[in-house]
Amino acid sequence: KDRILEVRGLDVDYGLGPDAVRAVRDVDLTLHRGEVLGLAGESGSGKSTLAYGMTRLLPPPGVVAGGEVIYHLDDGTTVDLLRMRDADLRRLRWAEIAIVFQGAINSLNPVQRISAQLMDVLKAHSAGSTPQSRQDRARELLSLVGIASDRLHSYPHQLSGGMRQRVMIAMALALEPRVVIMDEPTTALDVVVQRQILRTLVGLRERLGFSVVFITHDLSLLAEFSDRIAIMYAGQVVEEAVSADLYRTPLHPYSDGLLRSFPALKGPRRELSGIPGSPPDLRMMPSGCAFHPRCPRALDVCDEQVPVLGQSRDNRSVACWLHPVAVS
Ligand code: ATP
Ligand code: SF4
Ligand code: MG
Repeated sequence: KDRILEVRGLDVDYGLGPDAVRAVRDVDLTLHRGEVLGLAGESGSGKSTLAYGMTRLLPPPGVVAGGEVIYHLDDGTTVDLLRMRDADLRRLRWAEIAIVFQGAINSLNPVQRISAQLMDVLKAHSAGSTPQSRQDRARELLSLVGIASDRLHSYPHQLSGGMRQRVMIAMALALEPRVVIMDEPTTALDVVVQRQILRTLVGLRERLGFSVVFITHDLSLLAEFSDRIAIMYAGQVVEEAVSADLYRTPLHPYSDGLLRSFPALKGPRRELSGIPGSPPDLRMMPSGCAFHPRCPRALDVCDEQVPVLGQSRDNRSVACWLHPVAVS
């Protein structure tokens, strides 16, 4: 399948010099056209840092320390987001790559009607539009995300959390981006609402043909809605697979533990056990495999040598000594 976004060897630090903490380490990730890629991992595993690092939206003291982020434009050329001029990147953002930030529903202006907020986004980016055309477009966008047109002039507090989330998605879709990155947009909402919103987004993905990076700590949602899943632990991608494969046979013990931390919406029932212990302090990363202090299946080699993400013998990507990288 066609690639649209490729992250290569991305390193992201918080702070500079000796105080720097590496929150994202040597991450490779590929997003294909039209696909939903899920990104999962415990709190603090680096999901948001990765999303904001790859789009250069990291708040200080975050800094990208290395790597490249290749974006494939429709005309077949590529650009490296990390090396583009700021002005060019600003144009690309929202128009090509839109992001819904974690906690975004709280970023709606409480004293402005949602129609006005949507129209502001449209005005800022579409020269030549008229107030009437912007209002028509705002109405159309809301209907796309399942909000009735009589809500157009509501204030945010008049909408439920789920509807506010839909407004955020409408804003992200305003400029018809090719890639939508959603960072845990729905954690504050109940599971039923989360699923409805995700279903809407995935339906729109099919109609409008964009690709999605969907970030959450709830793997059961990803299993249902994403095509592929990447699992992060302590700043690294430790496994990446087709959703069904990851769900049926997680190879990395951490993926397995994460799956057991959430009730299954479908597929095999697993005993819910979670993962004992907690993620490492990034300032004092364990030797060898970062997961070894918590791993129920650790081998002798695990606290000595770092396993690298590679294709295992069964053609899956995993960083674990239980699944040696195939020698080509
Ligand atoms: P969550 O599921 O809670 O959203 P996450 O996977 O998105 O977690 P990040 O927010 O990317 O994780 O955090 C990754 C690591 O970077 C954590 O160890 C966190 O403490 C650290 N970190 C995040 N923001 C900062 C900051 N502004 N300064 C220093 N360290 C930070
Ligand atoms: Fe566990 Fe070793 Fe695999 Fe790490 S490399 S996940 S410690 S078995
Ligand atoms: Mg986060």
